[in-house]
Amino acid sequence: MTDTIQCADFLIIGAGMAGASCAYFLAPHGSVILLEREEQPGYHTTGRSAALYIESYGNAAIRALNRAGKPFFQNPPEGFADGPILTPRGSLTIAEASQLDALDAAHNELAATAKGLEIVEGARLLELFPALDPEKIVRGLYDPNDMDMDVHALHWGFIRGMRDRGGKLVTDADVQGLTHGSDGWKVETRAGTFASPVVINAAGAWADEIGKLAGAKPIGLVPKRRTAFTFDPPEGLDPDKLPAVVNVNEDWYVKPEAGRFLGSPADETPSMPTDAQPEDLDLAIAVDRIETATTLKVGRFHSRWAGLRSFVSDKSPVVGFEPGLDGFFWLAGQGGYGIQTSAGLGMTSAALARGAALPDEVVREGLSAADLAPDRPTLAAAEYFAG
Ligand SMILES: Cc1cc2nc3c(=O)[nH]c(=O)nc-3n(C[C@H](O)[C@H](O)[C@H](O)COP(=O)(O)OP(=O)(O)OC[C@H]3O[C@@H](n4cnc5c(N)ncnc54)[C@H](O)[C@@H]3O)c2cc1C
Repeated sequence: MTDTIQCADFLIIGAGMAGASCAYFLAPHGSVILLEREEQPGYHTTGRSAALYIESYGNAAIRALNRAGKPFFQNPPEGFADGPILTPRGSLTIAEASQLDALDAAHNELAATAKGLEIVEGARLLELFPALDPEKIVRGLYDPNDMDMDVHALHWGFIRGMRDRGGKLVTDADVQGLTHGSDGWKVETRAGTFASPVVINAAGAWADEIGKLAGAKPIGLVPKRRTAFTFDPPEGLDPDKLPAVVNVNEDWYVKPEAGRFLGSPADETPSMPTDAQPEDLDLAIAVDRIETATTLKVGRFHSRWAGLRSFVSDKSPVVGFEPGLDGFFWLAGQGGYGIQTSAGLGMTSAALARGAALPDEVVREGLSAADLAPDRPTLAAAEYFAG
């Protein structure tokens, strides 16, 4: 604990993907301190994702942010990362005979924007993913545009880039109190006291708790647990060249992951903000669904985990100053898209937090500040989530 107060133009709470990307884009414009409760940034949801970039995934605001950030991922500044952030993967949405209407609806929705989209059946379906059970799965929708993301390289690229521009990461800095006075915000943490005119709340599943400490109106954030695990492929099947496979109802998926498969029941169980852990029942449900639709046998889990995907009622992120609470800025509600939207949200939040206009990349995609604002009408009924 230090006695001196450390000051910055911007204090960001939470060094997951949201806080790190905002810090990166803010650092050229003022001094930034990024406060993280854990010993390592990325311990919570950021370190637990499936690492996919699915351009067509999410509502209209999410898709706009995906597209706005894609050029950054494809062509990051020199020295940002040692390798590519995006690598081609492709995805195959599959349907049983009773699910063909849902697959047609998915096709109709994507056909106008997804280049190379292909309806596949029979031999082509099995060529794309040989472990499907042809007795069960009759048709698929192949989207070659979906990518794997190097989440670690991206997250640390943002943090390193922020530091290179003079910003500072402070870990073991659990924020325990926020007070606002005539000279701005004072933030009490386990690592000492910090002060700034602007506090950015990027605390992931804990964002409404930070809001409560600051005296902000809740945004009604609901953290939802999602389970994942990895398992070995059958002998003779190399997963690395295969697409991700998702059931059209999105009630399970598998994707290649460093020589193994990653599986998930795509669960969304409401949870308090916590260090989420996988439940045996969710793991068993995923194994059953995967083994029913494919010839894969999960056998032993190589690893298993759970993370919290945090949503507000309209499933768009919440980005902007809290009305009536000078200098308190929200960057929350990234849901299941916080990695793929991170470049778009990082540049958006950094612009709005310093009072600048939305970046051209974002405006071009049809998004406005009002779509993300904490006082947008769709969040009017927000309550603090109490379990
Ligand atoms: C199984 C799973 C699969 C997913 N797959 C994908 C995917 O393929 N693609 C995709 O784009 N997204 C995916 N997501 C979602 C994505 O991981 C999240 O949207 C993203 O990581 C959210 O980042 P964040 O920075 O908001 O949250 P976090 O990473 O949780 O960061 C918030 C940080 O705030 C800190 N904090 C909280 N309270 C305090 C406090 N009081 N003081 C200081 N620090 C505090 C926490 O310690 C934490 O480090 C997936 C999520 C899960 C769980």
